[in-house]
Amino acid sequence: MKYDVKIINKKVEDLLSCMSLPEKVGQMIQIPYSLVTREEALAWVDKGAGSFLHVLGDNARELQSAALKTKHGIPLLFGIDAIHGHGLNENATIFPTQLAAACSWNRELIQEMGQVTAREVATDGLHWTFSPVLCLGRDIRWGRINETFGEDPYLAGELGAAIIKGYQGESLDSDESILACAKHYIGYGEAVGGRDSCDTEITYRKMREVFLPPFEKAVKAGCATIMSAYGSIDGTPLTVNEKALRHILREDLGFDGFVVTDWNNVNSLIHIQHVAADIGEASQMAAKAGNDMIMNSPAFYEATIKLVEDGLLDEKVIDEAVGNILRTKFRMGLFEHPEKKGIPGCFGCQEHLNTSEKLSQESIVLLKNTGILPLANTMKRIAVIGPNADDIRAQYGDWTYFSHPEPNPEHPPVRPYVTVLEGIQQLADENELSVEYHEGCSIRESEKEDIAGAVQIANHCDVIVLVIGDIVEQAGEYRDRADLTLTGKQMELFRQLRSLKKPLITVFVASKPLCINTIAEETDALIVGFNGGMFGGLAVAETIFGKLNPSGKLPISFPRHSGQLPVYYNNLPGWHGGRYLDLPDTPLFAFGEGLSYTSFKYSNLKVDETNLTLQVDVSNTGKQDGYEIVQVYFIDCVSSVLTPVKQLIGFEKIYIKANETKNVSFTFSKEDFSLVNSDEKRVTEPGEFILMVGSSSRDIDLLQSTITL
Ligand code: BGC
Repeated sequence: MKYDVKIINKKVEDLLSCMSLPEKVGQMIQIPYSLVTREEALAWVDKGAGSFLHVLGDNARELQSAALKTKHGIPLLFGIDAIHGHGLNENATIFPTQLAAACSWNRELIQEMGQVTAREVATDGLHWTFSPVLCLGRDIRWGRINETFGEDPYLAGELGAAIIKGYQGESLDSDESILACAKHYIGYGEAVGGRDSCDTEITYRKMREVFLPPFEKAVKAGCATIMSAYGSIDGTPLTVNEKALRHILREDLGFDGFVVTDWNNVNSLIHIQHVAADIGEASQMAAKAGNDMIMNSPAFYEATIKLVEDGLLDEKVIDEAVGNILRTKFRMGLFEHPEKKGIPGCFGCQEHLNTSEKLSQESIVLLKNTGILPLANTMKRIAVIGPNADDIRAQYGDWTYFSHPEPNPEHPPVRPYVTVLEGIQQLADENELSVEYHEGCSIRESEKEDIAGAVQIANHCDVIVLVIGDIVEQAGEYRDRADLTLTGKQMELFRQLRSLKKPLITVFVASKPLCINTIAEETDALIVGFNGGMFGGLAVAETIFGKLNPSGKLPISFPRHSGQLPVYYNNLPGWHGGRYLDLPDTPLFAFGEGLSYTSFKYSNLKVDETNLTLQVDVSNTGKQDGYEIVQVYFIDCVSSVLTPVKQLIGFEKIYIKANETKNVSFTFSKEDFSLVNSDEKRVTEPGEFILMVGSSSRDIDLLQSTITL
């Protein structure tokens, strides 16, 4: 960043010294525009509110110009959930969700996604996105898996840092950059039973070992803000968790931005978590613990002023919080340019759409192919069947203008976008093939089914493309699922289509892995698209017709059964192998898996112990050029605490032409092999380590060697 720390600190100090207590506490308040009238919003501006969320366009401009007219003229910060693109604005470029984007394992492309989103958010006059989610998707029952970069701390940290760099750009004061917000700090995704915002039963050692690393990378990448989570760790809500918010985040990680609470966290201390008797107590605890900005608990304002006046809260705590907020506003150059300009006309421009399309393509994961794909040109009639074949809402997932906070069926989807059906129709036209479509059944239990109609159509076609999955009503907050099997009559539809004994390609459009064992076993090909964004359907079609050589790899494991959860690859070793009597001990599909239309061979693994380097030759042994995602894992052979059965520590995505061999090298540091010991200290314990390199987390896909540190 370009700013001069000393000058900014001086500006903050000067401004703070002439602000009254209410003006200072006002800066800590963030008001949801959707919950107040225009007059109430303006009254909050008069009181010196520091920020609003979910306000767009002219409404935001009106508030900003009112704020600039107040005594100190401190500009407002406008925050928005631009989660996969600035999706709450209907004209924006919508990207694959974080989970789908993570399938690309492409740092550069995800950074570009951040850049595009920042430009569009800034063009809307807004300053701040509540993204990325750095929670890990380890319990798939959780409704918000789609918002994560998957199950692995290393991958989530790398992709998180990339998108943060994209959002924040070279400098926060650029007209095209916005503030990022790493959330939800911390352990939120690990809530017991996958039940959103419930307690997380982890120790601080575990927290530091598994859940902190992505936040550490976010802080290193300069992430300007962090959101404290709804939940609690071992009974202490994150909102009042001084150890997490002050000692770990500020002292250990060196975070110097500001912390915003999640929605209504302070009130929840009283009404949900029952650790505070009233708003006074709740506000005192939240401020002391290190929350700087309070999202949607406006009663914090009066209560906190009173606390300081009554001598129950040291004004220094307020000064520190407001200092953190003002410092960020100065860093952004808000006092000089309160409104971000962005790039007029950039909404959904071709360049932005191209980035989105590229990410949709790289998000495709091919999990099974008996040889049916890419489709041979002997297939003249294609039956496209299934509830998600032509459902753009299911393809987008949540956090868009028509799917958040509640699905809004009244709001028509805005072009451009391409569903799977449309993509297939488009490419079929080019190849003079005929396409017939039938929804077959619904994903919701209650609606009418016409499986017979679908079967009839499929019966006179050469090949069936069946598109199944879940819908927005099954993803997001309040939408955890105990049963991860396909809902509605989707299985019945599959069975009846399968019984036709025609080539059958299954496409999975869903917010997260579901239990699709029978399908995986019986289908001829399985393509995973998750929530693939505007061009997700086109990317699926291109894969089917061979215009796209799929390259995505799973950032998350597919369970065989809900009862098998958690099923993440980097589990700790167990006495009896962690096996259930009634299930194989492997997931249905493992972390890192994903096929290509070409094949890759790994050879000549060389490990240099002194320089901590690893080299391997990767050859494209097939007939097509393609991307391979080379993954490196390690195992700590003897350690003071249990360490994962294997852990990712590096990956590179490389393009290799047919018949070409590339030498890929990685350099590690000793810290990469570290663990968190029982004193909560991150240390690298000397001894032997196994290094593994290959195409997925499965042992059969990995070459291995050992090093001694
Ligand atoms: C979510 C956050 C989100 C916030 C503001 C909360 O319910 O947990 O992820 O940023 O709302 O919309």
